[in-house]
Amino acid sequence: MSQYGDRGNLLTLIQRCRWRGIKTEVQELNLGDPVDGDRADIFLIGGGADSHQRLISDDLVHVKGPGIREAVRQGAAGIAVCAGYQLLGHYYHAADGTHLPGLGIFDAHTVHHAAEVGAKLDSITQAGRVRAVGDLVVGWRGGTLVGFENHGGRTYLNPGAQPLGRVIVGAGNNATDGWEGCVQGNLIGTYLHGPLLPKNPHLVDHLIATAIRRRYNEAAIPSLGDEMEWRAHARAAERAAARRRRRPYALAAGVDRSRRALRRLLISRSRQAATTGQPR
Ligand code: GLN
Repeated sequence: MSQYGDRGNLLTLIQRCRWRGIKTEVQELNLGDPVDGDRADIFLIGGGADSHQRLISDDLVHVKGPGIREAVRQGAAGIAVCAGYQLLGHYYHAADGTHLPGLGIFDAHTVHHAAEVGAKLDSITQAGRVRAVGDLVVGWRGGTLVGFENHGGRTYLNPGAQPLGRVIVGAGNNATDGWEGCVQGNLIGTYLHGPLLPKNPHLVDHLIATAIRRRYNEAAIPSLGDEMEWRAHARAAERAAARRRRRPYALAAGVDRSRRALRRLLISRSRQAATTGQPR
């Protein structure tokens, strides 16, 4: 799946290997294709709408599941984004009540917020009320990961599960416990779209170094300049912080409240400018 631009993660991974003279072989997995758990060094699964998840979940569990489990057991690295993350947990309970069993690699489960609050998604406005959408900044290994999130699902980690990091800006797993993502072995689940990897060079290199270490027992990989990547990273983090100042991150009705408040503020400012002639 890659309905939210997550294919950019693959392109970034290939390019950062190429810049280091590391050859890559990409196997695109379609419905019916099994996973060779012995061969996979890094795997990526992206996001998708509930309808896409319904299409692929049975194949993911029964055709690809054994190979993915074996790859994770052997220490393969991977990034599962949003819908992919949800389906690698125990289950995903979709907005319309469909129950999609997952692989159970992440000790977590996900319920769409519409199903949690009994909301019918019969309009874009209503759908927007139950989605976590916006910049997402996460504390990771003493630094940050940046991206955006766009999900209705709320993911809950079981006590033994290891989160990816603390939410700094955004909703993350469920907008309540302050955690984002989940880590199992060298597999990372996250709501960070963007695509995630271009603005997080340290995460890409973590995946590459993990794969190299596992396969060739090499310690480190040569670093790259990354001046542009880090500028983009910092800009994304600043933008997220500014948005949070303007509109404290809120979900559901809260978003509407802040939109109405913002509209009142803009109207009063334009009236003031009209009377005093002074733009504010
Ligand atoms: N359909 C899932 C949700 O709404 C995943 C969305 C996504 O992959 N961005 O939570």
